[in-house]
Amino acid sequence: MLRPRQIVALAFATLALAAAAAEPPDRIYVNARAWTGEPAQPEAQAFAVRGDRFVAVGADKDVRALAGPHTVVTDLKGLRVVPGFNDAHWHLPSRRNARLDGAGSVEAIQQRLVDYSRTLPPGSWVVGRGWMPTDFPNRVADRRYLDAIFPDRPVVIRDRDGHQALANTPALKLAGITRDTPDPPDGWIERGPDGEPTGLMKEAAASLVTGLLTPLTADETYQLLLEELATAASFGLTSLQDPTDVGLTQNERAAVMRAVEMGTMTVRYRAPLPLEIGVPAEQIAQYAALRDSTREGLVSYGFAKTILDGTVDAKTAFMLEPYVGGGNGVPMLSQQELNRAVADFDRAGLQVEIHAIGDGAIRMALDAYEHAAKVNGPRDRRHRVEHVEVPALSDLPRFGKLGVIASTQPIGATPDVVTMENYAPLLGPERFSRAYDPKQFDDAGAIQAFGSDYPVYSMDPLAGIYAVVTRQTRDGTPAGGSHPENRVTVEAALRHYTRDAAYASFDESRKGTIAAGKYADFVVLSGDILAIAPAELLGTRVLLTVMGGRETYRASGFGALAVPSDRREALRRDAASTSL
Ligand SMILES: [Zn+2]
Repeated sequence: MLRPRQIVALAFATLALAAAAAEPPDRIYVNARAWTGEPAQPEAQAFAVRGDRFVAVGADKDVRALAGPHTVVTDLKGLRVVPGFNDAHWHLPSRRNARLDGAGSVEAIQQRLVDYSRTLPPGSWVVGRGWMPTDFPNRVADRRYLDAIFPDRPVVIRDRDGHQALANTPALKLAGITRDTPDPPDGWIERGPDGEPTGLMKEAAASLVTGLLTPLTADETYQLLLEELATAASFGLTSLQDPTDVGLTQNERAAVMRAVEMGTMTVRYRAPLPLEIGVPAEQIAQYAALRDSTREGLVSYGFAKTILDGTVDAKTAFMLEPYVGGGNGVPMLSQQELNRAVADFDRAGLQVEIHAIGDGAIRMALDAYEHAAKVNGPRDRRHRVEHVEVPALSDLPRFGKLGVIASTQPIGATPDVVTMENYAPLLGPERFSRAYDPKQFDDAGAIQAFGSDYPVYSMDPLAGIYAVVTRQTRDGTPAGGSHPENRVTVEAALRHYTRDAAYASFDESRKGTIAAGKYADFVVLSGDILAIAPAELLGTRVLLTVMGGRETYRASGFGALAVPSDRREALRRDAASTSL
């Protein structure tokens, strides 16, 4: 094994140049500590950008030598640079919500809803998301807690995972839900001992209430998109992959196209298509054509998503063995239905994503992918399983063997109160010891892409990296981490958030590493996350985000960087200015 110093020496010995490097670069960044993600040249001091691409990566003196009269040289003062983060599982929110994350109590939920409601027109719906069962006494969410503050105004709040919603009495009335309302397919209306609905609506039942909400206008959707893009850039995100199973609404498609036209699209966005049963071949062919025509664009298509089970916390994830206390959860499709739908999309060369959390659902997803390969022949497929929280040990080698990508959410490894008091007891110790364990996929030789599942969790990649590197909460508990044997290194986490996430959308030749010829997507960080103590990851800030050579975020206070003295004279002469 090479020691870090030796690796650096090797890396600086080579200067990688793009084939057509005749024109001088627009910008050169020197005195950086760049983690490139390229095994052949893992660290670099300097890199050059022309247009939207990196054109050279290597040692300061070699890259500086490429400068032309108009090249702007920026001194990064030894700051850590990494490839732009790529969130492989990020949803565009459909509306603004009162954020209830981490509320911790009914009183806190009530207070946040009251505060939020003051920003809304009188009498309109109050919508929130992010509560957890542990926020309620005895972990039982009930409409009376909402009725207490909003006796006349409809309220509906989704839980953190989005698989159940709590509605108050006015909301149930508007939805026409009574003790006599039958449960819908794929969901149920929770009822109390008296037979009356408690307000808790599980899985598909939630839409009986949320279906009443008025969708945003086209303008509101565009504004919401811009807000989300700004937040993403501030976290160093340059690519987002959206696995929303219903695809984009018409307004969302229009908003995304408008952003591209207006030049406000500050991430590379992979938009979703719905995977459904019995989709006609012509429709699937249209999806494939859409994939082909958008391959190089800021907005691209190519994967189709379906949801196979629910969540552990709601006991709706489909398990091979029952939860502690009973019940296995139920898959939303039969194996036969899933096989057919997957094979139909696979035949057209589309990539498939299946939400599967329980070991039973994960096995079904793998079986469906194996079936598709059998009936449609060998191909580079890169089908994905989303979440993959509790895989059976015997299924782990199948990811590598079938070329299936494990699309995981590192932030889920946080041992927070819901995890420790609801999730872990439901699984029991053996299954919990291998839940949210990214290391097992690395050890099994699977390609693993990291994502946040925003808006379920924060989209901050550094928060996700902290979670899998420490397996502690943000305040550092428990000491040593929960199941510390499952921790991964910062470098592995970085790879999953950049290079592997690019591979997961067939984009590894275009982006995901700092390499000549690839898109100039990179992030400058305030701390060297590969060297600092893990606890300091949380204090690390994104200082600068660049997507396709263009600055998409700059931290306030991250001001002009001095031009190195040996270039200053030349730059003055050429009247080039550093805007950095
Ligand atoms: Zn999701």
